[in-house]
Amino acid sequence: MSWQQLVDIVREGVAEAAAEQTEPPTACPNDGEPLRTGPDGGLYCAWDGWRPGDRYVGDQLR
Ligand SMILES: [Zn+2]
Repeated sequence: MSWQQLVDIVREGVAEAAAEQTEPPTACPNDGEPLRTGPDGGLYCAWDGWRPGDRYVGDQLR
């Protein structure tokens, strides 16, 4: 194995990790409910009000 092959493997892993992080969540981590798009354009769970970033629907009103 050459150094160039090693570098390519590392770069591939970094790119995959970055792609996973930027992918928006599609389901609620609490109950697995598929997320819906709210009136403000943000995702939310219709079951318990969870929103990405560990916030909940109505948090901004408090
Ligand atoms: Zn939920």
